[in-house]
Amino acid sequence: MANPLFDRLFAPHQNRQSPFLHLADGTTVTHDAFLRTSARFANTLTALGLAPGDRVAVQVAKSPEALAVYAACVRAGVVFLPLNTAYTPAEVSYFVENSGARLLLCDGGARDALQPVADAAGAILHSLDADGGGSFAQLAADQGDSHKPVAREADDLAAFLYTSGTTGRSKGAMLTQQNLLSNAEVLVDYWRFTDRDVLLHALPIFHTHGLFVATNVILASGGSMIFLPKFDLDEMLRLMPRATAMMGVPTFYTRLLDDARFTGDLARHMRLFVSGSAPLLAETHERFEQRTGHRILERYGMTETNMNTSNPYEGERRAGTVGFALPGTEVIVTDPATGNPLPQGEIGQIEVRGPNVFKGYWQMPEKTAEELRENGFFITGDLGQFDEKGYLSIVGRNKDLIISGGYNIYPKEIELILDEQPGVLESAVIGVPHPDFGESVVGVLVAEPGATPDTDAIAGALGGELARFKQPRRLVVVDELPRNTMGKVQKNLLRDRFADSFA
Ligand code: ATP
Ligand code: MG
Repeated sequence: MANPLFDRLFAPHQNRQSPFLHLADGTTVTHDAFLRTSARFANTLTALGLAPGDRVAVQVAKSPEALAVYAACVRAGVVFLPLNTAYTPAEVSYFVENSGARLLLCDGGARDALQPVADAAGAILHSLDADGGGSFAQLAADQGDSHKPVAREADDLAAFLYTSGTTGRSKGAMLTQQNLLSNAEVLVDYWRFTDRDVLLHALPIFHTHGLFVATNVILASGGSMIFLPKFDLDEMLRLMPRATAMMGVPTFYTRLLDDARFTGDLARHMRLFVSGSAPLLAETHERFEQRTGHRILERYGMTETNMNTSNPYEGERRAGTVGFALPGTEVIVTDPATGNPLPQGEIGQIEVRGPNVFKGYWQMPEKTAEELRENGFFITGDLGQFDEKGYLSIVGRNKDLIISGGYNIYPKEIELILDEQPGVLESAVIGVPHPDFGESVVGVLVAEPGATPDTDAIAGALGGELARFKQPRRLVVVDELPRNTMGKVQKNLLRDRFADSFA
């Protein structure tokens, strides 16, 4: 009986004694050991009464065992639902109730706080600690370490992944086996992963980047991972010489560059640096190349679709762009009013279609119908444009578009100019209510360490570069931009904070 995701990603590694995970303490977990743990866990899920199609919500620290829960779910046909470790019990309660999860796995330390959450949702609660212990692991110790994967169809659900909640309440994206599998295979090929690769893995595994992009690519290629519990600069510098590839969010790259110990020598053995989840500044791209000789490969994806576009492995990696549609995925830029494709160069909404595109939002038929067209295209909510060579760039999110006095204003255009100003480290441009214009522009600046940006001088400089309607009516300096755990700027929080600017 077939289980396409298991058969392709996990089954080939059965009985392999080669390392799958290299841990920070110098020990390794072999492919064989990992699969045996996942078999015990799968047997435990069944013993707890979970049937194929049931959901398991998992809010645990990153560990080899936490990853084995994912593999166990694939084996047992149970839908894997990982949760951000930063979520509070009140937030977890939403996800558990919303998903109808039958089992909630948490860290031992969170048990008391989450027991009422599980009870209220009618879910069983068990713990899985960062060191691999806990009540779930104890149950698993009594289970056999072989397990016959249940039969699944390519179209069966493999995971519910909730979106990062950058623009509003997180939505549960229903991802099928085929969604995950097709993307893993395309990426292995596009980024040239082989069983010789060692991926430096410091991303969380509750998000698509660290979970499906990184882990599935390594499983599909047969390589291994240096598996760090979190991003720790000292550890990254210590272990990078043993890796061949790294995947990171832009802040990984800026933090590495801000440390003088990060030299080209440390990256000599690397063949690939990938960035995504948030925009990588062209400046970071350039500084990285100067320091290491490597051009970071930027790609674009999202919870609902896995990866959509990527800069090429060979050929020019264009800073400030997210490259081309991946093989098998169509990407178009359309007019938000009509839905018709726009001529090259024009800004419009990015839509994608392909085997990577999810099945819909869990229990949100209206939202699904709004964003997933009948012809299969998914309206991503991002705005972008193709350049003359077919590279896509993202100019921001639809929801962040500012409409002032009837004109469309793309925050990124203004942010790029603000970032160049003396004393400015980074910026975020938002639209807030304005009595005459509907919305007006506020520029939120973060100073470079020790600097005090001169907002009057900056306003003057913008006058020479931007049409009047695009110029921020207010510039403010803040200590830092609000970011969520994936490094994404939360503009909705900024809009709330500065809502009364022109009241
Ligand atoms: P929510 O949908 O709940 O508001 P979210 O969209 O941030 O949250 P994710 O699915 O984690 O949740 O993130 C996908 C989004 O991240 C994309 O829609 C896009 O806006 C952004 N993104 C991903 N990669 C890039 C990139 N390389 N450059 C710019 N933005 C990117
Ligand atoms: Mg989104």
